[in-house]
This record gives sequence, structure tokens and C-alpha cells, in this order.
Amino acid sequence: MPDDAVSTPSGSHPTSAPRDVLGLVGSTPGEPAFDGHHPPGLDLVDDCVHCGFCLPTCPTYVLWGEEMDSPRGRVYLMKQGLDGEPMTDSMVEHFDRCLGCMACVTACPSGVQYDKLISDTRQQVERRHPRSPRDRALREAIFTLFPYPKRLRLLRGPLRAYQASGLQRLVGRTGLLKLMPTLSTMESLAPRLRRPERLAERIPARGTRRAVVGMLTGCVQSAFFPDVNAATARVLAAEGCEVVIPRTQGCCGALSVHNGREAEAQKFARALIDTFEDVGMDYFVVNAAGCGSSLKEYDRLLADDPAYAERATAFTAKVRDLSEILVELGPVAPRHPLPVTVAYHDACHLGHAQGVRAQPRQLLRDIPELELREIADAEICCGSAGVWNILNPQPARQLGDRKARDVLATGAQLLVTANPGCLMQVAASVQRLNGTIGLAHTAQVLDASIRGLPVETLK
Ligand code: SF4
Ligand code: SF4
Repeated sequence: MPDDAVSTPSGSHPTSAPRDVLGLVGSTPGEPAFDGHHPPGLDLVDDCVHCGFCLPTCPTYVLWGEEMDSPRGRVYLMKQGLDGEPMTDSMVEHFDRCLGCMACVTACPSGVQYDKLISDTRQQVERRHPRSPRDRALREAIFTLFPYPKRLRLLRGPLRAYQASGLQRLVGRTGLLKLMPTLSTMESLAPRLRRPERLAERIPARGTRRAVVGMLTGCVQSAFFPDVNAATARVLAAEGCEVVIPRTQGCCGALSVHNGREAEAQKFARALIDTFEDVGMDYFVVNAAGCGSSLKEYDRLLADDPAYAERATAFTAKVRDLSEILVELGPVAPRHPLPVTVAYHDACHLGHAQGVRAQPRQLLRDIPELELREIADAEICCGSAGVWNILNPQPARQLGDRKARDVLATGAQLLVTANPGCLMQVAASVQRLNGTIGLAHTAQVLDASIRGLPVETLK
């Protein structure tokens, strides 16, 4: 077992204190792993024919070569749980180590719906498995901060001062952060911040209006990548969309749902539906891959809620990744040349989870003088995976460095992707490897081309 992978150390659970004192809700030792509330489906588990085609695309199997850290191994553990085996620390450890990258879904010739399986399994783990005090505290800190854009934005000022004052370099030289691995990880991932551009709540379409679109500003995206949101809104408007961006919008619940926090995710989903339901939108546009994949599953998330099930289904039908809607509508805004070589990185939650690979490439190829290059082993995750890189810093670095090496090997001047987590993760690894490459979201490249900006604005 790799010693750098453990986010929930085996045997560290507080078994001596009474469970009600600890505030834990969960299975008692010896109880079957799963309760009756949406356990992983036995029919889905049985779809796995154990062929192993998924193994080479699974980042944890690639790192460690352990069967139980492969998709096939995890499906086997789910089967054990369904057969009445208890939820052991070791079982949870293997589920926790899954990045949820869904590379196995793409690779599986038998159509195993691992996305549904791991989602249901994680909810069982979060409800029923007592985590160690350290793990609980870390997760609480993460989920008290990240799904709240206003709280994240409050960090912008101090972070900008920290970066601009030279304190960041000084702290880096002291090695102090090595003593605090989680803080060190977060510090290394934080992008360089600029003053954000304030977006109007309704941006008119340029020329003939072709659609009304609601736009998600996101949590990490709005706090740390406001330029991406501004570029997204400009591109949509230039392509004939009236863009509706209510300031009251909150988190879409992606981080919560991807980490098994079902009730919290449902609360965020209901609030987002309430916010956008009456704005008269034809589509709901998302520029962050992780958010898009969970928004497309609101119907499943709220299926048991009589007040929201139908509304969630209607909402889900309108969700589009930015690249999808732009290709669907077809371009009307002229593109100016952008003489730049681009390596396009498929964010897992766009490529594997949503199957959106052709559209961003098509949009980039349509830009005159832009040369697109492919990255080797593109199907392997960069190690970002929501907050996985904070919960599992060492293996996340290994995956990030591996991805950064593949990106740098393309010799491209610019790395383009559609997820804030990937941008931060690869940027941190490129820096660690002393590499040089510009980083941009697809929206920023399109925006620069439509506005005729020089390529230097992207680097
Ligand atoms: S989702 Fe990714 S990390 Fe998890 S089992 Fe599938 S390929 Fe492996
Ligand atoms: S590729 Fe599919 S069927 Fe084959 S082992 Fe992996 S999950 Fe099972």
C-alpha cells in the first residue's frame, strides 16, 4: 500500500468513545455495508465482466498497481457490501482514493455505469462510516468554505496581498508550509489574482438575439477566475445570446455530490433551480466541467423530491457546457487570427463524464492560425478531481507532475482547458517542474479571437 495515499488512515477511528457523543451517524460494526437508501445497484455491479480494460486508464491503478485501487476492484468491493459484508476502514479507503474521474466509464466496453455506482457508494460512506477526527475536521473546513462563493471571495483580498507583497516567496523559502501539508497544497494551487470585472445581471445579445441563456458563475470560478466568467459572457453575447447572471446564485452542489454529501448537494440544487427557473432561459450554460457534470444529473439527485423532481428534469434538459451551446448555435461572430500553438486538456468531467471532446476542439480549430496539439495519455486525470488534491496531496502531485510533463512535451505555447481545478493543478505542477506555458480557458481563447486581441493577452 502506498504510504502517501492515505486520506483516512486505517485503524484511526475513535472506537472507544460513545457514537452519540461523537455525533456520528453510521453502521455499527458487523452491520452490512449499505443501507436501503440508494445502495449501489446490484444490476449495475453485475454488468462488470472483470475484463480489466479499464485498468490502464485508472489513475490510482496506474500509480499503485493495486487491484482494489482499480475500477474492477472497487466494483468488487461494492459487490461484497451488497452481499452483506460490513463497511471496513480498508473498503472506505479504496472508495475514498477514487478520483471520480470517470476514465473507467469511457474505457469500459460493457457499459458499466461506474459513475452511478460510486456516487451511491460515496453517499453510503458519508452517512454510515465514522471518519477519524482529523479527516472530519478537514472535510468540514473544506465544505464550510468551497461551496460558498461569498466566503471564497473574502479570501481574494488577503491572498492578493500575500502574493503581491513578496510574503509568498518568503514563506516558500522558509519551508514552513512543509509542516502543514494541506495548507501547502492549497497555497501551491492558488492562482495569481487580478482585480475582478463586475458582470451585469443581464447582458444583451449582440445583433439578433438567438437565445436567452442563464449562466453559472460558480464558486472557485467566480472567486479565483473571474476573467473566465467575463470572457464567457462576452463570447455568448457576441454569438447572439442574451446572458442572465443573477447575483443571488450560489453553488451548484458539485463538490458536495461528488463527495457523497447528498442532503447538502440537494439543498444547493433546489436553491439554484429556484434562482433560475423564472428568468426565461432557453439554456443554462456552464463553463466549469465539474459543475456541468453534476448539473446534468440534477434529475437523479432530486428524483425522490416530489416538489422538485419534475422541475429538476426540466432544468437538466437545459444544461449545456459552453462549448456545446456554441457548436449547437453555430458561429456568427467573426474570428480574428490567433497565431498560437495550443495543447487542449480534456477535463475529466467534460470528456469522460459528459462526453464533450469534439466541441471544444472544433471551436479552437475554427480560429485562424491557431494550431492544436494533442497531449499524450489524455485520458489520465491530472489529479485535481474537485478537492481530491487537497485530501490526497502527494498522489495528486504525482498525477499533476505527470500531466504537466505530457503537456510540456507537446511544445505548445498555451494550455487550454475548461475547468478551474485542472488549471490550478497543472499550473502548480508546471511551476514545480520549472516549465513555461500559458494557461487559459477555452472561453478566453475564443474571446481573444472574437475581439481581435493579441495572443500575448493569453499568456
Ligand atoms: S473514476 Fe477514475 S479513479 Fe475512480 S475507479 Fe474510475 S478511473 Fe479509477
Ligand atoms: S472495463 Fe468494465 S467490465 Fe471490464 S473490468 Fe472494467 S468495469 Fe468491469
